[in-house]
Amino acid sequence: MQGVERELWATAQKNIHFPLSKTTDSMYWKKKTHEQIKQHIFSALEANLDYRGDRPILGIPGTYLDTTEFYPDAPFLKDAPYMSAMVRNPNHIGVHTLSETSVLPVFAGTQDVEKDLIRLCAEEIFQAAPNTVDGYVATGGTEANLEAMWVYRNYFMREKGAKLEEIGLVYSSDSHYSMPKGANILQLQNIIVPVTEDTREVTEEALEKAIAAAQEQGVHYFIVIANLSTTMFGSVDDIDRYGDFFSSRELPFMLHVDAAYGGFIYPFTHAESRFTFQNKYMNSITADGHKMLQTPYGTGLFLIRKGFFDYVKTDEAQYIPGKDYTISGSRSGANAISMWMILQIHGSEGWRYKMEMLCDRTERICNKLKDAGIPFFRNPYLNIIAIRAAYVPAALAEKYQLVADSYEHQPKWYKIVVMPHVRPGVLDQFVLELLSPKQQPVA
Ligand SMILES: *Cc1c(COP(=O)(O)O)cnc(C)c1O
Repeated sequence: MQGVERELWATAQKNIHFPLSKTTDSMYWKKKTHEQIKQHIFSALEANLDYRGDRPILGIPGTYLDTTEFYPDAPFLKDAPYMSAMVRNPNHIGVHTLSETSVLPVFAGTQDVEKDLIRLCAEEIFQAAPNTVDGYVATGGTEANLEAMWVYRNYFMREKGAKLEEIGLVYSSDSHYSMPKGANILQLQNIIVPVTEDTREVTEEALEKAIAAAQEQGVHYFIVIANLSTTMFGSVDDIDRYGDFFSSRELPFMLHVDAAYGGFIYPFTHAESRFTFQNKYMNSITADGHKMLQTPYGTGLFLIRKGFFDYVKTDEAQYIPGKDYTISGSRSGANAISMWMILQIHGSEGWRYKMEMLCDRTERICNKLKDAGIPFFRNPYLNIIAIRAAYVPAALAEKYQLVADSYEHQPKWYKIVVMPHVRPGVLDQFVLELLSPKQQPVA
């Protein structure tokens, strides 16, 4: 880290607010028409060197999809920008927000679309000041979470002289399994903080106890994961509680937000979200397109404040202009394009409306459960309801494909996720069956 970044970092550590005031305090981007989106993506594809074009491409070990099956003159392709991108197969290897040289000239057109996607997500959805955040479209939430851990592990080792065994990964017991997976791959110490049974919350006392125990084991540097919704409960960690805890004790820490699930719903349903780059504690964030945004699998967005990617620069990536900083290496440009397209066709207001509709539907069921005295957990800004398993007959859970908190022991909770395919009629039917007088608690 050098110059300005080092200063920003020092400022953050001193618990002073970042000079990151945005001119507007809420997100906005206008919706585009299908026609506008089509033109934009086709001109981006035109700006790439086409493997079929007149200009020679001799050095790149990639090409278009095999034409026996994926013939390029299929008539529908001229109206299908995403499918066209798939068939032309641009490679988005590397990270393109770092500098002009980090854009591969061969795929400059579509890599610019990815840059614009990163800008939109960082600056509109997560409220960063202009040009302060880097990012890329990872294969998924797992890779994006691992990327963050990798950056911070190297940061502590390089900047603070930390030894591997002194670096801990702090996360709640409700966190996604990519945390223990990442800790295992990167050789970090697991510091798992238990949550309260009913509110699924990490209390200050629990945190205090877990960190004290870790310190006794020789852990002095902390990579902290705050969940912007856990997968099972839709519970949201208190990012400021985490941040205040470590900064008030002057413990070295870096905080990453796992918003793989909530990243494309919570900022739209909660106007006062604390999970923005205006919050000095949030240094990076994972937001999956392939959960709430309904993009194809392979669209895990990773965003991080500028200055940090350098800790995972692979200098040996000699053949890639601008080098590589990602875990994945080669990746399809069509993925970034799909995210960009969906965000553009809705605009910020359209997407907000869609997400609020899901929350309204979720709310309706919660009210019925409340009236019936059935205990459940739900964060009001999200579309997940976890119901106490004792009140849900196993046959009903099976019929409606509810997901249990564990398949190893007796389930304690079953969850409903009110996704766009979940019709209100089906929800009503489920509640009717759940509340029918025949059903008694099975505990
Ligand atoms: C789904 C999910 C992940 C992992 O994402 P993949 O895209 O499956 O790798 C991580 N964290 C949370 C909270 C998730 O919901």
